[in-house]
Amino acid sequence: MKTDGETRLLGLIGKPVRHTLSPVIHNELSGLYGYNEVYVPFETDKERLGDAVRGAYALGILGLNVTVPHKNDVMEYLIEVDEGARAIGAVNTLVMTDGGYKGYNTDMMGLLREIDSYGIEISGKWVIILGAGGAARAAAYMCMEKGAERIYILNRTIQKAQRIADDMNEHFQRSAARAMSLSDYPQLEADSNGDGFVVFQATQVGLAPDGDAAVIEDADFYRLVSVGVDLIYNPYETRFMRLCKAAGADCYNGLRMLLYQGVTAYELWNGIKISDAVADMVYRKLEKAVRRNVILIGFMGSGKTTVGRNLAELTGEDFIDVDEYIEEQQGCTVQEIFDRYGEDAFRKLETETISRLSETCSSVILSTGGGLPLRRENADILRSMGYVVYLKTTPDEVLKRLAGDTTRPLLKGYDVKSRVSELMVKRAGRYETAAEYSVDTVGRDVCDIAKSIIKLVF
Ligand code: NAP
Repeated sequence: MKTDGETRLLGLIGKPVRHTLSPVIHNELSGLYGYNEVYVPFETDKERLGDAVRGAYALGILGLNVTVPHKNDVMEYLIEVDEGARAIGAVNTLVMTDGGYKGYNTDMMGLLREIDSYGIEISGKWVIILGAGGAARAAAYMCMEKGAERIYILNRTIQKAQRIADDMNEHFQRSAARAMSLSDYPQLEADSNGDGFVVFQATQVGLAPDGDAAVIEDADFYRLVSVGVDLIYNPYETRFMRLCKAAGADCYNGLRMLLYQGVTAYELWNGIKISDAVADMVYRKLEKAVRRNVILIGFMGSGKTTVGRNLAELTGEDFIDVDEYIEEQQGCTVQEIFDRYGEDAFRKLETETISRLSETCSSVILSTGGGLPLRRENADILRSMGYVVYLKTTPDEVLKRLAGDTTRPLLKGYDVKSRVSELMVKRAGRYETAAEYSVDTVGRDVCDIAKSIIKLVF
């Protein structure tokens, strides 16, 4: 990215802003359109918010995003606030106009474009919103505008939910929104119209690094869900989404909401309309920024460790072999753990290990033991960590690669080939289900396989 005397500035004000993904969206769009614009985050204290907005205008900054904790307070420094943003009570985008900035709420527009892109119907539906913060307000406004028949807003602090319900009912002049205490969710079953609810998860519960939590854990609640949308996108697959999926509901994360709130802001700043094709290109970039790990799974001898090491070398990322990691942590070999404590104890250790790694790993290549992804619980954790890639092979190739290996019980005794084939057939479907991508490894060298994976996920 080069700057010169004509470069225009875009930016973000909030605190903290260090981990924002917004520069990925806006700098990518400027690159794609060839606009001489640069997007920069500015950490801004509450006490200096007015100075920051006035200073930005004085410097000719073309547009700003606003994030927590300033989305509400910033309104007093604006020359005008869009009607939707005023009704929501929060502004996340400032657009330069004559005499000052005009404020918009593109979070609401982002969520609207996300549900449209997934074909989620809201008109005439019964909706639940979990949470009553700024994001929940945007979701409530969007659902009212799209004609939801009934909207339950559930929050730990019921007064906040009540305020949103009252504001929305008054603004739209119909009484579709109702407030409930979060702990009263069991009452919803009696209230259900039998069609299932569209549920928006708009609390902070489940956000990385505390990714293994959901605001409601009770599986009975999830039987009421027809579609679940978690506004959180990090981790990529949240616990709320996993609970929805286990109950048979469709589910989505909030990454497209993030994309479209940024795309809408960029459209406002530059007076353009961004096509779906361009938005999809930016989405791929965002996805890669969020889903940072690559996890290799497959049968023994499929090359997980060798390919993993090569991939780490080519990409400069760290490599962890989960079996080796367990051996290091336990101070003995996997075989010794099996012999001393049995297979169940080892499987439990595997699950605990990847749960722990899922909290700490980013930009890491992992290879797993052949049995690890066969447990559904483990497959869920792996997918929440990043891209899961299944390395496919054949019995002949396995036997060729592992010739001379005397450490594996399966390769000992009679009729090894049919036993290997039988086990591979049994596992193949489960590997396919656990993985997002499958890569054929037969007859290919390690570097070639690693390069195919790079093409898929980097
Ligand atoms: P916020 O205004 O601070 O609201 C936080 C909400 O979470 C409140 O309803 C709060 O309940 C609830 N909450 C926090 N801890 C809780 C706990 N332990 N148990 C139950 N409820 C709890 O935050 P926000 O701006 O609305 O953001 C909410 C979520 O949406 C965040 O995870 C954020 O990352 C996500 N978001 C995503 C996008 C996107 O583009 N995808 C955009 C905006 C926000 P109380 O009122 O009782 O404290």
